[in-house]
Amino acid sequence: MTRTSRLLCVLYGVASLWLAFITVQQAKYGGIAAACLFAFASVTGVIAVVREFELADERRATAALRAKRREGSAVRPQPSAPQVVLVELPVDCCERWWTALGADHDPACSRQHR
Ligand SMILES: [Zn+2]
Repeated sequence: MTRTSRLLCVLYGVASLWLAFITVQQAKYGGIAAACLFAFASVTGVIAVVREFELADERRATAALRAKRREGSAVRPQPSAPQVVLVELPVDCCERWWTALGADHDPACSRQHR
């Protein structure tokens, strides 16, 4: 949970407690409709705190998944240069193709118009 999330949780908690106090005061000295309204508002602060915890869990899970993927890609063996050459390069190509790094072919090459 980030520092901002913790600060928001504290603010939500204080607001909920304050609204709960106002709910009690309204129930004693005011109208019941206003007391119900303040009670509902007090509950929304609790919902916000729960939501902040859910977001923190989701962020933590996402960060763990990213770290796992990064770790997995680092461990995966990379093909060696000769393997890449054997897979990527055709063996029966022209001289110009080799010297042009695959950008061009000799006019007589069988791969000229591909
Ligand atoms: Zn060629």
